[in-house]
Amino acid sequence: MAEQKRILTGDRTTGKLHLGHYVGSLQNRVRLQHDYDTFILMADIQALTTHFENPALINGSIYDVAMDNLSVGLDPEKVTIVQQSQIKAIAELTVFYSMLVSVNTLRHNPTIKTEAANYGYNDMTYGFLGYPVSQTADITFCNADLVPVGEDQLPHIELTHKIVRRLNDLYGTNITEPKAMLSSCSRLIGLDGNSKMGKSLGNAIYLSDTAETVNEKVRLAVTDPSRIRAKDPGHPDICAVSTYHKVFNTEEYEDICERCKAGGIGCVACKRRLAEKLNELLDPFRERRAYYEAHKDLVKDIINTGSEKANRIGDETVAKVKEAMSLKI
Ligand code: SF4
Repeated sequence: MAEQKRILTGDRTTGKLHLGHYVGSLQNRVRLQHDYDTFILMADIQALTTHFENPALINGSIYDVAMDNLSVGLDPEKVTIVQQSQIKAIAELTVFYSMLVSVNTLRHNPTIKTEAANYGYNDMTYGFLGYPVSQTADITFCNADLVPVGEDQLPHIELTHKIVRRLNDLYGTNITEPKAMLSSCSRLIGLDGNSKMGKSLGNAIYLSDTAETVNEKVRLAVTDPSRIRAKDPGHPDICAVSTYHKVFNTEEYEDICERCKAGGIGCVACKRRLAEKLNELLDPFRERRAYYEAHKDLVKDIINTGSEKANRIGDETVAKVKEAMSLKI
């Protein structure tokens, strides 16, 4: 059997994951795990770049994020779940790679610029500015072939190419130049109609939310504001609830839109139907999560075992890079 290509993906450990993460990447991971050697990074060092003043949140989130991944159906027998801060190779490679990239290149990285503006950073920390270098180390310590990303992450992959090419050209190493695997997944708007569902925006449905919480959140979701009575003709194109039907209730989406426009369905009934569909999706996740919640030692074991395996691979990569850079006596 041909050797599987390796994928590196992961999540920042800054809180529980929500439906936006599911639609944007987790759902895809569940499919990919069957055909690729999948490494999933619990990115706690990257979380420090923006949440360094809240280490307790980062630490608690390592379990939460691992359980979110396991609850949606990632199989610990198939995938390798890794705690970023346990991997010595990532720290070492970050230092070596930092010699190969200029400060100006990092400053002009469009993703860094956008994210710095979003966080309101006038004066970025060295760690934040340099996180794409650390990301290159994340991808290359295990010689990942593919990195599933959204369009906004492409500049980081380009930087990874530059660094890897420079390293291979200068020192004759053969580190894999990874390819971006552009995600065709949808981006989910917030329940408040905000263009993004976000942990900090208070507009998210979490994968670990109870059915009652989902019902309540959907009940309060923003709809067409011009609609006062159930028989008023509605505008599904400006309604957050309809975009959720489109993603999570594809079979009924068209019909709901038509009925909304004709004043044939009220928002209360429409929301109730959406909540039912979301809970249908989330129920098996809740079941798996309950199992892992009751077996936290097992989750710890999965993370530690994955990290040990990653360390063995990373140590080999670092040894090769150090030798090529003449960092041996
Ligand atoms: S009926 Fe549904 S789609 Fe139409 S405005 Fe109300 S919640 Fe939105």
